[in-house]
Amino acid sequence: MNIKVAKFGGSSVADAKQFRKVREIVLADDCRRYIIPSAPGKRYGGDYKITDLLYLCHAHVKHSVPFDQMFDMICERYLGIVQELELSIDLGPYLSEIKEKISKGASVDYTASRGEYLNGFILAQYLGYDFVDPKDMIVFDEFGSLDADKTKELVEKSLVEHKQAVIPGFYGAMPNGEVKTFSRGGSDITGSIVAQAVGAEVYENWTDVSGFLMADPRIVEKPKQIEKITYQELRELSYMGATVLHEESVFPVREAGIPINVRNTNEPDNRGTMIISDKESIHANTITGIAGRKDFTVISIQKNRMNADISFVRRILSILEVNSIPVEHLPSGIDNISIVIDDEYLGSKLNKIVKEIREQCKPDAIEVYPNMALIATVGHGMVYTRGVAAKLFTSLAEANINIRMIDQGSSEINIIVGVETNDFERAVQAIYDGFVE
Ligand code: ADP
Ligand code: ASP
Ligand code: MG
Repeated sequence: MNIKVAKFGGSSVADAKQFRKVREIVLADDCRRYIIPSAPGKRYGGDYKITDLLYLCHAHVKHSVPFDQMFDMICERYLGIVQELELSIDLGPYLSEIKEKISKGASVDYTASRGEYLNGFILAQYLGYDFVDPKDMIVFDEFGSLDADKTKELVEKSLVEHKQAVIPGFYGAMPNGEVKTFSRGGSDITGSIVAQAVGAEVYENWTDVSGFLMADPRIVEKPKQIEKITYQELRELSYMGATVLHEESVFPVREAGIPINVRNTNEPDNRGTMIISDKESIHANTITGIAGRKDFTVISIQKNRMNADISFVRRILSILEVNSIPVEHLPSGIDNISIVIDDEYLGSKLNKIVKEIREQCKPDAIEVYPNMALIATVGHGMVYTRGVAAKLFTSLAEANINIRMIDQGSSEINIIVGVETNDFERAVQAIYDGFVE
């Protein structure tokens, strides 16, 4: 029988009402055998996510501040779900044990992981599926990186024994058995790992939007839904801020050639977005989507006859390397080069770096542009269509937006422009309107 792996994000399992929708979806198709839930997310705007509360509990303990009130909010949410669904499980002992462990200084990863653990436990009962704890099969190496080969082997071995199972997302364990989580949003990765290991026909990722949209719905009102998108396009978009899927989640399924189907728990009849292999790419539209991120700094360096100085670029890059700063983009002209850096890594090192570049590379001029936003316009179709760049720049010019930087990757599926942070939302809207409206 074909197997479908279905991951349900935080808002899809936020309360009893959402649990009912999940059950209806899962039971509608026998192939949906392995289910990966997140921790309960927001039920409405302004609500809190259980994972955030758990992180707060941990921070309180660390600073020796009582966390009872916060923990009570967590208990209330879970007990409410159990009660409303009329399940006969007694969560009391589980909650007490977790509280006890947190109060005694349990690790931050253990603490955060309990959101998924408890939700998985409840969902398994509700669906009548087995509960399988990922700590026994998703394993990290001693440096904290996922041990993909061993994980695949363990998941495969463990799940043949369970015809149907709920596996909480977001965490696994270190070689010594200690719980370790992925980065935020990491349940998407768990789903992908499970889909790969069981050789699923499809990896369904159920969330609160009807698939991947052409732009962030928090910026553009009702953006068009993307019907099909390739892994490569998805990777470019999610890396640049389209946060529908965790950026690491494409690798396991991509390797196995398993498509991802992004679906909406609140609109199950919508077929959502299919993420397909790069070879199958279709060029129906010139652009597939737009995504962007704020908080970059650009250091623009000018030196006449730069290309004659063969070690110039290497020296710049080694300064960044020594300061442990990854380079995001490196657009260059004949006599100039720009370094685009994510502020997260730059911290307070900017002045130091500029000084070192001045001393070691002796440029003719060096300028710094802080508060930059990058916007990626992505699509395989761009390679086959003339005038895409022209349209992009015209759209921005007509909206009176200055472009500070342009970078087109050699794959030609991505044009990146740098604009000032203040112009970010307007720029995304302008590009969207230029191509779609
Ligand atoms: P989940 O909790 O189900 O994992 P996430 O909040 O991680 O859901 O991801 C879904 C959200 O991603 C949407 O609610 C939407 O606000 C946001 N988002 C950002 N960019 C896009 C995009 N291009 N298409 C769809 N959703 C997007
Ligand atoms: N609950 C975790 C988070 O909020 C993981 C996830 O939802 O994927 O980041
Ligand atoms: Mg998510």
